[in-house]
Amino acid sequence: MDMSSKQLNPDIIIIGAGIIGLSIAYHLLEAAPKLSVTLLEKEKMLGGGSTGKGTGSIRYQLSSPQLRRLSLLSRDFFLKFESTFDAPIWYLEKGCLMLAADEGSWNHLQLTTEQVVADGIPMELLKQEELLKNFPYLHSSRFLGGTLCPWDAYADPYAVLAALYAAVRRKGATVHFGREATKLILNGDTIKGVETGQGTIWSPLIVNAAGPYAAQLAATVGITLPVQPFRRQVYVCTNPKDVPPATPLIVDLSTGFYLHQEASARTVLLGGTDKDTWPGFEEVVDKSVAEDFFLAATETIPSTIDIKWLRTYTGICEQTPDFHPIIGEAPGLKGFFLANGLSGHGFMHAPAVGRIVADLILNGKTEQIDINLFHPDRFAKGYLTEPILLDNYSVKDAVRT
Ligand SMILES: Cc1cc2nc3c(=O)[nH]c(=O)nc-3n(C[C@H](O)[C@H](O)[C@H](O)COP(=O)(O)OP(=O)(O)OC[C@H]3O[C@@H](n4cnc5c(N)ncnc54)[C@H](O)[C@@H]3O)c2cc1C
Repeated sequence: MDMSSKQLNPDIIIIGAGIIGLSIAYHLLEAAPKLSVTLLEKEKMLGGGSTGKGTGSIRYQLSSPQLRRLSLLSRDFFLKFESTFDAPIWYLEKGCLMLAADEGSWNHLQLTTEQVVADGIPMELLKQEELLKNFPYLHSSRFLGGTLCPWDAYADPYAVLAALYAAVRRKGATVHFGREATKLILNGDTIKGVETGQGTIWSPLIVNAAGPYAAQLAATVGITLPVQPFRRQVYVCTNPKDVPPATPLIVDLSTGFYLHQEASARTVLLGGTDKDTWPGFEEVVDKSVAEDFFLAATETIPSTIDIKWLRTYTGICEQTPDFHPIIGEAPGLKGFFLANGLSGHGFMHAPAVGRIVADLILNGKTEQIDINLFHPDRFAKGYLTEPILLDNYSVKDAVRT
């Protein structure tokens, strides 16, 4: 088969060249170097989807055992990333500090600490006095306590994406930018190909890695995917004067507010209180919520009253009703694989998801995790995973259905 027919009839087509699509391509080609893999990306450049907007946090401090397992499965990949790919990603284990301002959150943190530690992940419970001693810039009377996980880390999402892109290209994958998959093509109950504005590409194996657009793509073959897009607004500000360098990611569970300090310690990314937005792809900045946002910021860190608001951007986060991803072959549709609805954890879990999807495609099973927990059918069958508090930063998220 020559190159051009391979491109028109690749072994596998991956739709979406974000962190999930590229991680799947990488793991497929690691395991089976002779595969011909084609990625279709509707944007004209790398990083045009959610991955390019991500904050880069990698967390083990998660309430859900399944999500913790995905973090643990991804750990080695991040730890060895720079030497494997010979590319800097500014990986730093600076920790994440979760803060509880109410009894419910505090009880939840205490329970989660036991479970996280039982999984072999270090996590410390800090009572109010320890919290204020170690983090004196926090609001002095607001918090009952908090938790700190020293493994929680940061890496630059675009740097990871770019290194993966270069690696899959070196391994022979074809990546078409500016080429949108407009319609999937079936032959009975089997996937056959995909239509694009620039012609049809045929393959018996297609992966949906379309991020927030996953449901639209699946709908072209009548599959209903409960993956919804939510706008997230991020405020880039100067570092509060009393917050020292190498400060952990700080999350106030009662409001969802977070502070992520950038590597230079000159600027911070703030956000997290906009959990009540409606689903949609609108990426315009909503200035009307800024006043309430900065009020929430001062409730967590009073010195934010003096910071300079430099700019604001938004990104779209894809979410499922139980905040767990959908991974596996689409029910009733042979050859169509789903890797969707990463629900705010797509960057940190991309290594595990890539490996799992590659296993499922190449071996029909995976030894990494009980895949039934992420089964696309779980919503139809009514066995959703429990909604969770810690994992999406806020109580409000835990009750939305
Ligand atoms: C503000 C913000 C902060 C975040 N912070 C974190 C964090 O700290 N840690 C973390 O783990 N996660 C974080 N996330 C979530 C994380 O960014 C996502 O879960 C992750 O990027 C999803 O990766 P993806 O590859 O599935 O999606 P994307 O990166 O969106 O990639 C999907 C790609 O598919 C393309 N596409 C869609 N439809 C088609 C089509 N029909 N044809 C061809 N191409 C198509 C899109 O253009 C896109 O490039 C954050 C998200 C946002 C918005």
